[in-house]
Amino acid sequence: MTLERRQRLHAFASIAVFVVAALLVVALPLVSRQRVSWPAALLSIVGALVITLIAINGLPVRGLRIRRGDFSAEALFQDAPVEIPLFALMSPESAAIAALGGFTLAAALRTGPGRLDLLRHGAVRALLVLLLAPLRPDLLALALAPTVGGAIWFMILGTAAALCIVFVCSLPFVALHTSLSLGVAMQRLGRDKRLWSGVFVTVFWSYVIARLAPSGVPAAIISLWLPVVAYSLLLRRIDDQAVELHRLRLVRDAVQAMLGARDPLPQINAILSSIHGTLIDETISIITASSPAVDDWKVVASLGQQPTTADVELRRRTLSRLKFAGMPSVVLQGDYASMHAFGIRLSDDEDLLGALLVRRKGAPVPDNAQKQYVAAAREIAPLLRDIRSIAAQQSAATTDALTGLKNRAAIFDRLRAMLGDVVRNGAILLFDLDHFKRINDELGHAAGDQVLRRVSEIALDSVRAGDAVGRIGGEEFLVVMPGATSDSAMMVGERLRLSISLSGLRHATGDPVTASLGVAAATIGDTAETLVARADAALYEAKRAGRNRIIEGVAESA
Ligand code: GH3
Ligand code: MG
Ligand code: MG
Repeated sequence: MTLERRQRLHAFASIAVFVVAALLVVALPLVSRQRVSWPAALLSIVGALVITLIAINGLPVRGLRIRRGDFSAEALFQDAPVEIPLFALMSPESAAIAALGGFTLAAALRTGPGRLDLLRHGAVRALLVLLLAPLRPDLLALALAPTVGGAIWFMILGTAAALCIVFVCSLPFVALHTSLSLGVAMQRLGRDKRLWSGVFVTVFWSYVIARLAPSGVPAAIISLWLPVVAYSLLLRRIDDQAVELHRLRLVRDAVQAMLGARDPLPQINAILSSIHGTLIDETISIITASSPAVDDWKVVASLGQQPTTADVELRRRTLSRLKFAGMPSVVLQGDYASMHAFGIRLSDDEDLLGALLVRRKGAPVPDNAQKQYVAAAREIAPLLRDIRSIAAQQSAATTDALTGLKNRAAIFDRLRAMLGDVVRNGAILLFDLDHFKRINDELGHAAGDQVLRRVSEIALDSVRAGDAVGRIGGEEFLVVMPGATSDSAMMVGERLRLSISLSGLRHATGDPVTASLGVAAATIGDTAETLVARADAALYEAKRAGRNRIIEGVAESA
């Protein structure tokens, strides 16, 4: 069954439970023709309002904290001190009315998803107290006897009722709504200490109320409910602060890591994990808009599933839309998933630095959950700028400013990497322009520079895809050709020599600009220095033999 169908079933079942409970709550007092007792009616109404306050502040149990919409799978509601004394001191019906009314009002006040869950929570409680109604006299005799045994029975029965609500009545809905199995959900819930302490505290307080207000004086009961509301507000505050503290800790760790490594990535990852919901059907990625073409944009960090081919295509379309629509965020619906892109900018009127992408199975991010992604995109913006400037510095450190080729250090690194590769050695090509000094002298330094740039382009066009070209001196270039034999290197070199001489570049005299080339193929025991020395000797040979030619350097042992 797909998650979407499970969730539809969950909604349907929740509504059914609510309708059954509502019918019973309305029908039972009519059928039993009870006279309405005004204190009981008043208490039911105030109880309902107290439950509303509690339910609005209800915390999701930590073990089941599921950031999928606002699903309140099972929440820590401190509503027992309202229903249990009403059940004991007034009637099962007044407890049922308070529970159903209170949660329904909380659902009505809530915006966005999670409403159905609140309706169901109220209905389940109402059904339970109505179900226990026939046992009420026996339960009261057992649990409200003014003895230690009575107190112990009260705690046992109250705890059993609360756990029955959580584990028996709510857990199947949790399993239905999420992709958790019943066993896993039960395990997670059972490990949550707050659940156990919450149940203990609220059942204990129910006992205190039932004992202190024996005659059911409404004013006494109402005043004893107020601490419960305060307690739920306090829990909520503590929880909000714990969440914020957790987020700050993540950020602090990331900042420390960053100060050490000067790398913004850990901090980006920390922000991602602080907003990420479940790994099951949500993937969040940070994309850097590293070039004008959307196809070249890169994923710098990602949390969740590996993207499928369909995801990659949907991502490309979503990013193009984001780039050209000029909107803060866009959403596209694919066949199996939705893709939401939130633009990352330093401020609203600045260019797009990148995007925060949320891929979800099924429906897109609900409106009320979008705020956190927008906030995360804002936090990530300066980090993405840092990543880009670090990348720019790195490329500046390895690039020759005049030609855009690799610089001397970078091409020698490439050469050493090639020689370190045992399986695929290769060959190098060293070339130097002929009589270049004359170009500078006769046409000026700027013209010389122009020739160097044009020759660089020709060199890049002449070599093969895996080859690297670098400028290692004034007008001296090195081509590193992994996997090349001396024959293939000679072929490439000859093609390059011809391309330069036929390029149309000319001296002041009209003679074409030419180059001399030396080739050397790596043999066992070669280092970067010995190989380049051999190519250099061949190049010197080519110059001496009259320039505009290519010569292969031969290893001494051969
Ligand atoms: P040969 O055929 O023997 O190589 O003669 P050549 O004139 O090319 O000889 P040499 O290597 O001595 O001359 C190199 C000249 O390149 C010297 C220098 O002024 C010039 N040069 C070095 N770097 C640059 C540069 O970045 N731009 C320009 N325009 N000229 C440069
Ligand atoms: Mg030269
Ligand atoms: Mg030279």
